[in-house]
Amino acid sequence: GKKKTAPERWARSTCPYCGVGCGVEAGVKGGRIVSIRGDRSHPANFGKLCPKPAGLPEAVHHPDRLTHPLRRKPGGGFGRVSWDEALGEVAQKLGATIRDHGPDAAAFYVSGQLLTEDYYAAGKLARGYLGVANVDSNSRLCMSSAVAGYKGAFGSDGPPSSYADVGYAECIALWGSNTADCHPVTFGRILQRKRDPRVSVIVVDPRRTATAEIADVFLPIRPGTDLALANAMLRVVLDEGLVDERFVGRHTEGFEEAAEIAYEWTPRRAARVCGVEAEDIVEAARRFGEAKTAMALWTMGVNQSAQGTLKNRAIINLCLATGNVGKVGTGPFSLTGQPNAMGGREVGGLAHLLPGYRLIENEGDRREVEGAWGIEEGSIPSKPGLPAVESFRALGEGDVKFLWVAATNPAASMPDLNRVRKALADAPFLVVSDAYPTETTALADLVLPAAAWGEKAGAMTNSERRVSIVEKLVEPPGEARADWEIFAGVAREMGFGEAFGWGSSAEVYEEYRELTRGRFPDVTGISHERLRERPVQWPAPDRMDHEERPFHGIARSIWERDEEEHPGTPRLYVDKKFNTPSGKARFAPTPHDAGLAEETGTEFPLVLSTGRIKNQWHTMTRTGRSAKLTKGLSGPFVMLHPDAAGSSGVTDGEAARVVSERGSFVARAVVTDEMQAGTVFAPFHWGDLWTEGGSVNDATHDERDPVSLQPELKGAAVRVEPVGAE
Ligand code: SF4
Repeated sequence: GKKKTAPERWARSTCPYCGVGCGVEAGVKGGRIVSIRGDRSHPANFGKLCPKPAGLPEAVHHPDRLTHPLRRKPGGGFGRVSWDEALGEVAQKLGATIRDHGPDAAAFYVSGQLLTEDYYAAGKLARGYLGVANVDSNSRLCMSSAVAGYKGAFGSDGPPSSYADVGYAECIALWGSNTADCHPVTFGRILQRKRDPRVSVIVVDPRRTATAEIADVFLPIRPGTDLALANAMLRVVLDEGLVDERFVGRHTEGFEEAAEIAYEWTPRRAARVCGVEAEDIVEAARRFGEAKTAMALWTMGVNQSAQGTLKNRAIINLCLATGNVGKVGTGPFSLTGQPNAMGGREVGGLAHLLPGYRLIENEGDRREVEGAWGIEEGSIPSKPGLPAVESFRALGEGDVKFLWVAATNPAASMPDLNRVRKALADAPFLVVSDAYPTETTALADLVLPAAAWGEKAGAMTNSERRVSIVEKLVEPPGEARADWEIFAGVAREMGFGEAFGWGSSAEVYEEYRELTRGRFPDVTGISHERLRERPVQWPAPDRMDHEERPFHGIARSIWERDEEEHPGTPRLYVDKKFNTPSGKARFAPTPHDAGLAEETGTEFPLVLSTGRIKNQWHTMTRTGRSAKLTKGLSGPFVMLHPDAAGSSGVTDGEAARVVSERGSFVARAVVTDEMQAGTVFAPFHWGDLWTEGGSVNDATHDERDPVSLQPELKGAAVRVEPVGAE
């Protein structure tokens, strides 16, 4: 009954699922989280939530939780060990690996699920104290193409816009984003905005998703043809005089080169390549170019591609050409998948980064970090480490001999999974920290129990650069510990105790924020204490180094009262000064000269795209353990067009096998004209823990973008057959 679970208190925190970063209030009773509701004061969601966080109480307090360190036994299975033994063994193995094989033989694979402090501790230990460059994150599979796109165009990572801008945009282009299912609260904003009849929505997606249903112009392009479309749209903008000449002339460079490529793409030519109507391309370009304010929102459909970086640049080109940057209601805006992938980027969680958007390759950047950490010059490796795919390949080839996986599940989520699974199983030493048993912990030598959401405090940054606090509400079960504490514990075992002697995650944050001073993601004006009052968008410096601009009535006098009173920065580049050497934003030529990395043919005639469904998250580690969220969910499925079903001999509702050159999985066929004839779609949620039929990623491949090194998870060549056909 309601009464029985009525919370004793409510505390503010932040949803740990997607990058919308909604504020929640958690109801706590008797040392347990019993209820979740939206935080009306949080600017990401104003009280709204999608269904996922409602399942948190069940997930956090689930009996499956890992509660003690576990060591693989020689005869199989796991046995309990103490933290002292576990940390001692990690320290010993890590030390021996580096001593015998060099620092490149060790690797850390972390996660956008970690809090900023966790990420920071891992990076400091690996880069600073062990000389290990191989620290990469599952954000490599998610946002690295956007990172490269922003860096190329603006000289720095960081989405320039805010969710609030959606409320002022006259045209909203959703590109490769099923916002309705994957960022539902942001979609709610779009729906609300769309009540104004002057507002138009463009949706670019090979699949007619729930998002496409609200489109004024829907462009169901063939997978891999985004660049042809973007060039043709730019050409229409040029031909019809919709270029913001003043903005382009004063604040950008490289326009001619980009335009030259765009001119190769008449709408008719692009229409043939993309498989859409030329009039629709023209219509979309006109709407985008004619609108006083236009935004382009995108996510995995753009990023998870072997041309992901160019696709990001092409979308940014459209925003630049039409002057839709640095103004209210405008901007290119990548919608981050994970809750703290943004924080991970800020803190140096990708293989080429150091804290504060510094580059590991840049000597000055390394010296600054070495100085701050009080370590010898030259301690930090000077070359980027191995990105995710390369790291697992190196593990398989025996070049990486020690791998530490934290808060992510590569044995379900990596592409070309057969190869990754084998590499993990054969790894000389695999340590996995997680709150739950996963496909990856099953392959570990040592499993370290991590505190889950609600059991540790720390910061997360959402897609709009807004830093929010995640609160510790209850004690972790058994001996589970916060990830930053686990990394610090190993550091102590290895003799670096002094540098890792933080008493709380707030102290970790204070150390980290000093490393952002004067950098682009400046968070020196942010502390845990401040975040408890309200979340803040960076840059939020603790002193005024340059002219600050008021926003919506927040005068600068408000924050001048106190050094932690910076109101935050809702949008970047309002002064049209970009972080490039010239201060100008850069166009890029974005030729469409390759389609998907893997071509379809007679044996594998269909293109497999993978993605998420509304109420599940990633590999179901938490959402799969909530009865609330799994209700009505009947296991893996694959969507395909009636024509594809017909030629494959597959019947709606029956089990089908999806086969690629690398592997296969079994899923229930859902025959629907939401799909294009040549494509199939399958959610990647179900790994080996949840299904015996194989994982979706058994079929995907790991070809990747040459710049971002993000794999093309949405483009495997497959065939579909009835089960039992072999
Ligand atoms: Fe959580 Fe994202 Fe849903 Fe918001 S939209 S409640 S952040 S999963």
